[in-house]
Amino acid sequence: MIEIAGMSVKELADTYQTPLMVYDENKLRQKMSDFMHYFQSDTFETGVLYASKAFSCKEILRLANEYGMCLDVVSGGELYTAGQVNFPMERVYFHGNNKSLAEMKMAIEYGVGTIIVDNLQEAQVFNELAKNSDHVIHILLRINPGIDAHTHKYIVTGHVDSKFGVSMLQEEEIVRVIKTFDENEHTVFEGFHAHIGSQIFDKNAFAAEIKKMFGFVKKMEEDHGIVLNTVNLGGGFAATYTDADAPIPLPEVCATILDTAKAQQDERQTHVKKLLIEPGRSIVAEAGSTIYTAGFTKQTPNKNYVFVDGGMADNIRPALYQAAYDADVANKDDQPKTVTYTIAGKCCESGDLLIEGIKLPPCQAGDLIIVYTTGAYGYSMASHYNKLPLPAVVFVKDGKARVVIERESYEHMIALEK
Ligand SMILES: *Cc1c(COP(=O)(O)O)cnc(C)c1O
Repeated sequence: MIEIAGMSVKELADTYQTPLMVYDENKLRQKMSDFMHYFQSDTFETGVLYASKAFSCKEILRLANEYGMCLDVVSGGELYTAGQVNFPMERVYFHGNNKSLAEMKMAIEYGVGTIIVDNLQEAQVFNELAKNSDHVIHILLRINPGIDAHTHKYIVTGHVDSKFGVSMLQEEEIVRVIKTFDENEHTVFEGFHAHIGSQIFDKNAFAAEIKKMFGFVKKMEEDHGIVLNTVNLGGGFAATYTDADAPIPLPEVCATILDTAKAQQDERQTHVKKLLIEPGRSIVAEAGSTIYTAGFTKQTPNKNYVFVDGGMADNIRPALYQAAYDADVANKDDQPKTVTYTIAGKCCESGDLLIEGIKLPPCQAGDLIIVYTTGAYGYSMASHYNKLPLPAVVFVKDGKARVVIERESYEHMIALEK
């Protein structure tokens, strides 16, 4: 029987039912501590922001706080969750390309430390609102450096039409955003943010991003007399989903980022004081697994299906972007994997397939199927499709489990319905 953090999958399934999201708490802690440890520099003040959209709940935010991380939120809901655990607001960064007026006011009321503005209109609105603030709000602007990095390659796209941020090519617009805050004693414009992709395996992508950003910071100094403090490089650090994935070890990525930034600072004589990164996926993905109970199996002329008691409602990533996962039959880990299966969910969509073409021991009803690396963008993207209640989430540590999110009941699910 497969175990998670010293607890058998069967015991977890018996105690909490399935589908069940399980996090190995020590793995979460290790990732947080590693990021904080390796992203340290003698040249720059550094900060690691947990991008909470990857998995936001009270307990994960408490952990992030315990490790001294900063927090990246992208909505009023994520901010509210942070507020509920008294996350220190000076360490909260508020992103988003279309923050509502209510969200901006909420950010000010909550005392959020940094707002990442996305465009000139937002800068103007926020600048007015911030005049009512009783604290000084740090401002970053999201810029689009024209680098697109997903998976194994990065490309310098000149892609200027992203919905996020202002293109580096629109220099006048960027200067106008910065100047918007000139006269406001409740705001300080600190620098730029960029986020170039997700599941990035190529450390040269980060190096390319840093060069572009420091080049642009220099340009601001030389051409406009604007001296900037902060460069926020975004997230996108890769996680291992299957054997096909081999992320660069964290110490190496961090060293590349810090060394490149230092070399840029020396070469260009910029005055950047603070470097930030925003990992989401890489903090939580590998620590999480989903346990399902197998139901019926079915053979078609070309396929063997095993059906599970969840699917795209609790993990939309395979249906949404053909994300690959690995899995095992937890109660048959001593048996040879002789059958090629398609693991399919129970939702009414032909695309509701969690894994295609995976070798497993012969499956039957009642088997416990564990899908690995579901910790990021699983629960946070979960839906009520087909009115499936959201699964429970448990953290396991040293052979003991605790519920961090209760399983939703049918009553919960329709509680707001008239
Ligand atoms: C999504 C996102 C992140 C986190 O990305 P990961 O791939 O999960 O590391 C960080 N910053 C911004 C602005 C994002 O949109």
